[in-house]
Amino acid sequence: MIRKPPRPVPTTPLVTPLMPSVVYTSEGLDALDAIYKTGTGFTYAREGHPNASHLAQMIDHLEGAQDGTVVSSGMAAVSAALIGACQAGDHIIGSQELYGRSLRLLNEDLPRLGIETSLADTTDVNAVAQALKPNTKAILVEVVANPTLRIADMVGLRGLCQEHGILLIVDNTFTTPRGFAAHTFGADITLHSVTKLLAGHSDATLGYVVARNQDLNTAIRTVAVTWGMTASPFDCWMAERGLMTFAMRYDRAEQTAGLLADALADLKPVTSVLYPGRKDHPDKARAEALLGTSFGNMVTFTLDGGRDLANAFVRTIDLAFAPTLGDVSTTMSNPETSSHRALSPEQRASLGLYPATFRISVGMEEPDALCDTFTQAILAIAG
Ligand SMILES: *Cc1c(COP(=O)(O)O)cnc(C)c1O
Repeated sequence: MIRKPPRPVPTTPLVTPLMPSVVYTSEGLDALDAIYKTGTGFTYAREGHPNASHLAQMIDHLEGAQDGTVVSSGMAAVSAALIGACQAGDHIIGSQELYGRSLRLLNEDLPRLGIETSLADTTDVNAVAQALKPNTKAILVEVVANPTLRIADMVGLRGLCQEHGILLIVDNTFTTPRGFAAHTFGADITLHSVTKLLAGHSDATLGYVVARNQDLNTAIRTVAVTWGMTASPFDCWMAERGLMTFAMRYDRAEQTAGLLADALADLKPVTSVLYPGRKDHPDKARAEALLGTSFGNMVTFTLDGGRDLANAFVRTIDLAFAPTLGDVSTTMSNPETSSHRALSPEQRASLGLYPATFRISVGMEEPDALCDTFTQAILAIAG
């Protein structure tokens, strides 16, 4: 059997074709040379393929950015950004409430490569300024922290970075370009776990990263290719389909999250509710200034009780208990047994996290029915 690549036809499919091909043929030596020189066209899928390029362009459009790269996971995006931007001898400051694996990268992996790191409270620009060193190269921050939903002082951090010539790297996963236009705001590097809200269906693992400076953008893409952080064409294709409904999903989930936060706060067995849109949120004014009315789809609440009560709640409520976020359906996680399991009980308590604290990623369910589901389950176990 001799393989013959399909010939182009004069009609165009409406849906992006899934293109799993690892290699691309070219017409001849000069044509191949031209592909390498201009960077247009494809040669070998690890270097780039049509499904990743197409998805990257869609996310570029959402972020108002140019020439971003889609990679194999959100962590690949974080890794490519930091390895592309920094070298041995540099110092990176990260928010102390970063995503768990980002913390691990800063605490363990980058120091092994000779990159110094420290953590600081990014809700307080003075605390970050205190952590500066002469070799500080970059600050990595998430606008809304997990699961405390505290809001970073983005305006202060942007000023600090400009003043000292430091790169501002924003992990925009929680906020999404719909909640916070990180690139337009002035982030030097913007990145996403596409796995979460952008793809939205818990069936594709992907990341996205873009740098404002063209040379830095190229350096990051080169790291992604060389270190093998290539995205799977199938996942890109799934994510593209998910992205088509992203704006509607986000708006719906966000609206429901506000209603659910208020419904939870009305229940006696609930000792605290964290939601940036609520009056009692510690960063309410900053949330409004940065996010307008876009407070996101995440709600964190604590029940009055310990591990037994928390277990009973998970058994009673008819929702998925799963350590992810941004799915079409509502999911719940418990920081003590997932994202914050490495901390001591005292450290967790200092963040306001207790055995019966739950983080909810609100999905697409009918809002009243979802509020009811929580209310019934909480009253049933606390009664
Ligand atoms: C999930 C997540 C990541 C990592 O993304 P993966 O696609 O799971 O690798 C990074 N940052 C934040 C804020 C996340 O929620």
